[in-house]
Amino acid sequence: MIDAELFRGHRLQAWAAVASMIALIANAGDLSANEVAKPATATAVVPAAAPASTTSTETEKPAAAAVAEPAPPPTPAKELFGAMTSPAQLEARALGFYSKGCLAGARALPVDGPAWQAMRLSRNRNWGHPGLVALVEKFAVEARDFDGWPGMLVGDLSQPRGGPMLTGHNSHQIGLDADIWFTPMPDRRLSNKEREDLSAVSMLGPDKLSVDDKRWSPAHVQIIKRAATYQEVERVLVHPAIKKALCEASASTTDRAWLGKVRPIFGHHYHFHIRMSCPPGSAGCVAQAPPPTDDGCGKELTDWFALLTRPPAPPPAKPVPPKPPLTLDQLPAECRTVLEVGIAKPVEPAPQRSLAPASAKSKSVAKSAEKTLNQK
Ligand SMILES: [Zn+2]
Repeated sequence: MIDAELFRGHRLQAWAAVASMIALIANAGDLSANEVAKPATATAVVPAAAPASTTSTETEKPAAAAVAEPAPPPTPAKELFGAMTSPAQLEARALGFYSKGCLAGARALPVDGPAWQAMRLSRNRNWGHPGLVALVEKFAVEARDFDGWPGMLVGDLSQPRGGPMLTGHNSHQIGLDADIWFTPMPDRRLSNKEREDLSAVSMLGPDKLSVDDKRWSPAHVQIIKRAATYQEVERVLVHPAIKKALCEASASTTDRAWLGKVRPIFGHHYHFHIRMSCPPGSAGCVAQAPPPTDDGCGKELTDWFALLTRPPAPPPAKPVPPKPPLTLDQLPAECRTVLEVGIAKPVEPAPQRSLAPASAKSKSVAKSAEKTLNQK
């Protein structure tokens, strides 16, 4: 069986159908991440990229005048979190699951560092759990110092308060996911415009089933190995062709434990994705099932290539309705506090919550966030 966290028999067809969509997204930039993930304890698999949701403007009026108007559907959580421009000034905590949660006490990755530059600044997604920000900073510096990597171009982490996003990822919601471009950093500081416009480069060759040796290099192997070797990294997500290249580069070595953490997934040939485990002390963070313990270079990879080369499934006879977007009620209860703190009237801290109160200096933060909220 292919990676059990992703596939169960009949889901293969659905995946094949979304593969082309994901590829399209990937080609548009570095927003290919639809990292489907399953919590360690849940039984349902989160579906892949749901198409953009529809609003309920087509709701029919009831025939009988006496029937009360139905309550409007709740605002999608992605609209609430997508409007947040500043972090929740609380104790840092990843709340919920990678694809269903939010982030308290986020820290911003500086847009320029000694060995990295953050990209797509207009998205304001360079926020993460302080542990993730520290990890990215350490990774960039060590890759430069030990792997000959000239520096990292860093894509999306999370929104200032995490949560679902209006565009792009399913995951990246709790501040523990980061996208790193396969394109090395140029040896100059990029302008803000360049950070918006510069395209990431795919590592795939024309066959889309193998890496392009003109772009793929031993240094790529080294940095992915480094990422996967960090104890706090739980997974590194890459395209199956890249996983294959990593397996081949490691064929003669017995140091293979890190390979098991490198998980194949669609997309992820313009960037790779590092996912941290729940940080110590992050009560309310829902862990993902650990990856299989083998190196994943055998049957799992063979199955992925069978999937990549099979003809696309015919469209379903009946169109599958899109999954409704997540609402605030579906996220951990504390995400309401994360959303509200410092925005409107102060929230009474509930005794059972361990979130720290907002700091006094959050006044200006509150002001700008309030403005945002009022625009909604
Ligand atoms: Zn990602």
